[in-house]
Amino acid sequence: MKAYTTSKRLFERSGAALAGGVSSSLRAAMRPVPLFAASGRGAVVTDADGNRYIDYLLAYGPLILGHAHPELTERIHAAMTNGYTFGLQHEGEIELAARLTEALPCAEQVAFSGSGTEAVMLALRIARSHTGRTKIVRFHGHYHGWSDAIFTAFPSADMKGGAASDAGGKTMPGTGGQSELALQDVILLPWNDAVALEETLRARGHEVAAVITEPVMCNSGCIRPRDGYLERMRELTRELGIVLIFDEVITGFRFGLGGAHERFGIAPDLMTMGKALAGGIALSAVAGSRELMRVVSSGKVSHLGTLNGNCVATAAAIATLDILGRNGGEAFVRMEATAARLAQGLRERIAANGFRGVVNQEGPVFHMMFIDRDAVEDFAAFSERDGALYSDFAERMLEEGVLVRTNGLWYVSTEHTEAHAEATLQAADRALARLAAERR
Ligand code: PMP
Repeated sequence: MKAYTTSKRLFERSGAALAGGVSSSLRAAMRPVPLFAASGRGAVVTDADGNRYIDYLLAYGPLILGHAHPELTERIHAAMTNGYTFGLQHEGEIELAARLTEALPCAEQVAFSGSGTEAVMLALRIARSHTGRTKIVRFHGHYHGWSDAIFTAFPSADMKGGAASDAGGKTMPGTGGQSELALQDVILLPWNDAVALEETLRARGHEVAAVITEPVMCNSGCIRPRDGYLERMRELTRELGIVLIFDEVITGFRFGLGGAHERFGIAPDLMTMGKALAGGIALSAVAGSRELMRVVSSGKVSHLGTLNGNCVATAAAIATLDILGRNGGEAFVRMEATAARLAQGLRERIAANGFRGVVNQEGPVFHMMFIDRDAVEDFAAFSERDGALYSDFAERMLEEGVLVRTNGLWYVSTEHTEAHAEATLQAADRALARLAAERR
């Protein structure tokens, strides 16, 4: 048995001056205790007790190059020694903006922020200002950050508060302290249902400023869009003058340098990105056409933030793009192959140990769930999964030296090798066997 003595002690201490003892509500869900990290290198993280884990949490996604990547670290360090932030413009912003407009099919201009939440806030504001309309269509099971105007009840099983399901079709606040009025402009629809989308947009499209979607529903089951679904969404929004926003905070710079929209060959009007963009340093962005971004350039829409586009973040992003783009982007192919191998290996081991489960993989990200189904293609199906069983599995995996998120979403980085994948599958086999034995 691994000892988590130091993490337990630190967690007890942390609650004294730190509200809840964690800095993001999700982290409280970890069992047997929210782990305290000591260090990370490549695909491996070491906790405060000296336990080592192959890491598939990857800080909830940003660490696309793994921990403490030598080149990224060096370039961040070089930027820092020159002054980290000025509140003045600097050339790094120009260079990064140019790099993004080159890499992203939908982008003629970009605007930087600090978090995915802020990028979504800005994108919604641009859409509303551009169209002069107020309603926003969003979908069950997607997550677009925690700002009042978009945070409906959270889809994730590892959220402690505000965890009520939004499967019933009602738009419920995602957290205590959120005004119900904040969501009055949100229209919540089932995803992957082209008929529901068309009916709603035909009836109410004249009020709708934007449709916002994750291009792959990574936050709830890593579910792919059905054939033709995003195409239909694109056609309808274009026809009805609605801004189509792809929230690529997870998929951006993970599904290739051009994100999910390049992969699927569908350009949204606006795209939000964050997480992997700067490899683990806080940076997010909105990208879109010059025409749409005009409301920002004209000053009609306020875009604010003290640390927006700071030197450390832009240097980290440029370095991340450089590293990911090398050798024709072979890193993406490699990450995806590793994820596919893990997903297939997990499917086999789930079955071999007498469980029923589904592993949905797309690019270097996949969602593993225990569920009595052959496939999970929408949020209603996803809601049937056994979250408690998965959470038990995640705890057993920790014991076996593998760190996975408690809700089932796994990220693969450039630093995960075949050997890591093999060790992970062996660990999963042992964890599943123990879980099966305990249930007998
Ligand atoms: N959009 C999506 C699709 C996300 O997955 C997330 C974060 N999980 C966000 C927005 C919010 O990003 P942040 O946590 O950086 O505010």
